[in-house]
Amino acid sequence: MTEAHTDVLVVGAGPAGASAAWCVARAGWHVVLVEARAQVGVPMQCAEFLPAAPGRLVADDAGVQTTQVLGTSLPSGQVTRLAAPGRMIDRPRFDQALAARAVDAGAVLRTATRCVAVAEGGRRVVVRQNGGVSNWRCKLLIAADGPTSSVARRLGLPPLRTLHSRQYRVRLRHPLHETRVWLSAAFPGGYGWLFPRGEEANLGVGVERSSGVDLRAVLDDFHHGLCAIGLVDEAVLSRTGGRIPVGGLRSPVVHGRVLFAGDAAGLAHPVTGAGIAPAVHAGELAGDAAVRFLAGEAQALRDYAGELEDCYGSALRHACARREAMLEAWREGRFDDAAARRGWVVFPEYFAA
Ligand SMILES: Cc1cc2nc3c(=O)[nH]c(=O)nc-3n(C[C@H](O)[C@H](O)[C@H](O)COP(=O)(O)OP(=O)(O)OC[C@H]3O[C@@H](n4cnc5c(N)ncnc54)[C@H](O)[C@@H]3O)c2cc1C
Repeated sequence: MTEAHTDVLVVGAGPAGASAAWCVARAGWHVVLVEARAQVGVPMQCAEFLPAAPGRLVADDAGVQTTQVLGTSLPSGQVTRLAAPGRMIDRPRFDQALAARAVDAGAVLRTATRCVAVAEGGRRVVVRQNGGVSNWRCKLLIAADGPTSSVARRLGLPPLRTLHSRQYRVRLRHPLHETRVWLSAAFPGGYGWLFPRGEEANLGVGVERSSGVDLRAVLDDFHHGLCAIGLVDEAVLSRTGGRIPVGGLRSPVVHGRVLFAGDAAGLAHPVTGAGIAPAVHAGELAGDAAVRFLAGEAQALRDYAGELEDCYGSALRHACARREAMLEAWREGRFDDAAARRGWVVFPEYFAA
């Protein structure tokens, strides 16, 4: 088996991995970014809403539609409209732009290349490409391989708690200028969404995996309900879905020479499922920590773990607690408007002590 060397090996060219690779490459270190998919960002597994956030995010050209308001439908059917600015993006284009930025900075991107083994605490990685297998030696490994991180599994670390989701792309009957969310006993531990993208929309549901509900049946019922009230067409243009971490920060987020980033670190918001922006941010933090470590700052990896905890730890713990309370209300058959308002991020009750 051939053996190659790199300073940093990044597994997964999603927003976290591509951002990490960019940071390492622009500092002049050798970085290899391996991605299991043949094309970055394809197939798309996302509702494509990027909440407006302070700070910068690249890939501005991937915007499809901006929205200012989120309409939240409560279990009683009452709809509350509150400011929640953000934009709908073309997620494949967004991810591809981040990967292109990393390559422009000097990162080596290998698509259709899957990490299949991790040894020596992350310093030796085996990848499979075109039926062949090659061996990489690296000084650091950044695991940005999503919510079901196989790097974590191969290191013997426990899986993250995840919610499962399904989504249809549908045509809107009328233009929709806001994002819409439905909180209902039909979606235990999650919610239904309709996010507009021009003449079409992403219509999806997420539910707690242990609830035992038939996700497809729930989505079809939801879809038929929105057809009946004239919001969307019946034809399903495309389908997707996937897992979303709902258990908060992975512990630990640094394991020897392995740094977890993005969903692999458990960074998606357990209530909203929003994980694109934290993935970009964590990728950049992981990349910068790798650069400092390679330059001889031994504490850089510990600092990375501290920064993730400072930036996200308490917000994620609060969200986990709120989601648990919502699930309890669901299980006890008392999921009413008050319970929904305490569990959903746009309401003041969510932030109350
Ligand atoms: C249905 C759905 C809707 C969502 N909607 C939103 C939304 O509207 N807004 C939002 O902010 N967030 C949303 N999210 C969450 C968001 O998509 C994630 O938080 C985000 O993609 C995390 O980025 P990442 O880089 O950490 O991981 P990913 O984007 O999952 O990237 C991981 C990459 O690693 C690759 N990979 C995995 N294993 C290996 C391996 N062994 N070898 C090589 N490569 C590997 C995968 O192919 C993938 O490309 C949604 C998620 C789902 C499932």
